Amino acid sequence: MSQLSAGKEVSSYCNKCKLTLAHTIVVMKNEKTPGKVTCNTCKSSHAYKDPASASASPKAPAKKRDKKRDSRPQIPLAELWQQSVTKAKGPGRAYSPKSTFLVGDLLEHPTFGTGVVDKIFDRTKMEVIFQDNIRTLMHNI
Ligand SMILES: [Zn+2]
Repeated sequence: MSQLSAGKEVSSYCNKCKLTLAHTIVVMKNEKTPGKVTCNTCKSSHAYKDPASASASPKAPAKKRDKKRDSRPQIPLAELWQQSVTKAKGPGRAYSPKSTFLVGDLLEHPTFGTGVVDKIFDRTKMEVIFQDNIRTLMHNI
């Protein structure tokens, strides 16, 4: 076995070339291990990297796999709102607690904007889907 020393060639993993290539030893770390090497291909100087250990321990990025928690698809509210507005019977009426609304009606609220009536309960209460939230409003008072 040939003794390694500065000026001799050694196989090292090159971070720039991403390959195990011939390198020239610049400095020895100890009698058996090169410290600093220069890549014969890209001429960059870097710490010696044992090609065996470089390939044996590839950095496996722990990617988070998106596991389906629920089989039911959760529709984002904005999407639900968009779907409801598209399906709603327009044109939207200005919201007033004195008006009477029906499920599927489009309404214009002065604060919350465009909403679609999703549910009617208690005769005077209704659930309205707005873009940012689902709110209970009074009507038919
Ligand atoms: Zn290189």
